[in-house]
Amino acid sequence: MPQQLSLSRFSIGVGDRFAHQACAQLQACVQAADAGVPVVPVWNKSNREHTIIGSDPVQTRAAADAAVHELHWAQPYFCDADHINLQTVDRFLEPCDFFTIDVADQIGITAAQADFESFTRRHARLIGAIDLPGLSDPIRITEGDLNRVGRKYLAAALRAAENYRYIEHARGRGTFLTEVSMDETDIPQSPAELLLILAALAAAGVPLATIAPKFTGRFNKGVDYVGDPRIFARELEQDMAVVRYAVDAFGLPSELKLSLHSGSDKFSIYGAVHNAMMKMDTGLHLKTAGTTWLEEVIGLAGSNGDALALVKEIYAEAYAHREELCVPYAAVIDINVASLPTPAAAQRWTAEQWVAGLRHDPHSPAYNSSLRQLMHVAFKIAAKLGPRYIAMLELRKAQVAENVTRNLFERHIQPVFLGVETTANTAEALRR
Ligand SMILES: [Zn+2]
Repeated sequence: MPQQLSLSRFSIGVGDRFAHQACAQLQACVQAADAGVPVVPVWNKSNREHTIIGSDPVQTRAAADAAVHELHWAQPYFCDADHINLQTVDRFLEPCDFFTIDVADQIGITAAQADFESFTRRHARLIGAIDLPGLSDPIRITEGDLNRVGRKYLAAALRAAENYRYIEHARGRGTFLTEVSMDETDIPQSPAELLLILAALAAAGVPLATIAPKFTGRFNKGVDYVGDPRIFARELEQDMAVVRYAVDAFGLPSELKLSLHSGSDKFSIYGAVHNAMMKMDTGLHLKTAGTTWLEEVIGLAGSNGDALALVKEIYAEAYAHREELCVPYAAVIDINVASLPTPAAAQRWTAEQWVAGLRHDPHSPAYNSSLRQLMHVAFKIAAKLGPRYIAMLELRKAQVAENVTRNLFERHIQPVFLGVETTANTAEALRR
C-alpha cells in the first residue's frame, strides 16, 4: 500500500450509503488542503449499513480508490470497517485498512477473576491524583474506580484485543489502523474511566490509533447535539489530556487521538471541539455518517421534476414504515411523529419547502428535525428502489455533488478543523 499508516492530526470519517459521492466528499478535503489544513478522509460504513442496503465493503473501497485517482489525492486515505466485531469482520478484512472494533456489548460483562486481579494489581500505581498538562484540576483515581472499571470494562478491553489479533493475523501487523469504540452504550465514560480503559487496552496489546468513548449528551443522527455544550467541552478537554498521558504512560502509539462519533451535524459543539483541540494541542477523528445521504435527498428535492417526485415517494414509504425503520437506530434518533407532515401534505410541498424542511439550518423556522431524522433512516427505502434511485442520482449528479461537498466543508470541516463559524448556517440565516 502506498499510503503511510498515519491518520495525521485531523481526519474525517465520511459515510457514503450508495457509494456515489466519494468524489464530492473528497472534494471537501481538497478544499481543506487548499485552505492549508490537511484533513485525511476515512470512508466509514458499518455492517449494519451494508446489511440494510445490501452493499459490500469492496464497493466502498472501489469508490474511494476511484475518487482518489480522479482528484489526484496524494495524501493518506482509509476505508473503515465501522462498528465490527468477530462475527461481522470477515468481509471487511481485505478491502478495509481501518477497523473500528465495537465492544459496547461487552460493557458490564464480568471478566475472569484472574484477569480482574491482574488488572487491578498491575494498575494499582495509578491510584491517587494525576496531574495532566492543560488541566487545572488533576484526575483522581480511587481504588473504587480501579475495581469498577475492572468489573465493567475489562472484558470489553480483552474482547477488543481478541478482535485486534484476529485482524492482525489476517492482514499482517502494521497494515491497518485500529479504533476501539464504546460509544453506542447508555452511560458515558468519565475521564478517569477512560484512562483506566486505555491502560487495559495497552496492557492487552492493542496499538490504538483512535478511541471512541461515549460522551455526555445525546448524539442523535443527523441533528444537533442535545445536552450542555459547556459540560461536553470540559469533558472533551479532560479526555484529550488523558489520551496524551496514556501515550507516554502506557506506551500507546504517539498518534493516538479521540474519535468523535458525532452522528453528523453537531453544530452547537463544533466550536468547542475546535477550541479544545487548539488548547490541548491535539487532533481528532470526526466521524460523520448519514449527512451525505441527506444531502443526496436535498439535492434531488431541489432539482424538482422526477427527482422531487422520487423524494416524495421515498418519504411516503418511510412514513408508512416509520416504526420498523427506526428500530435499529432507537438509541440515536428522537422523532416527534406529530411534527411529520402526512404523505398527502408532503406530496403538495414545493422543492423549496422540501429543501427548507430537510436542510439542517437551526435558524430556519421551516427546518423540521423529525422529518430530517425520518429521512435519515429512510435510506432502506431508496435501497429497495435500487436502480431507479441510482439512475436518479446519476441524472442529478451535479446538484447532488454540490450539496454534498458544501455540507461537508462548510458545516463540518470549517467549524471543526479550520475554526470557522458554520458559515452555511449563518449566511442562510442572514439571507432571511
Ligand atoms: Zn459510533
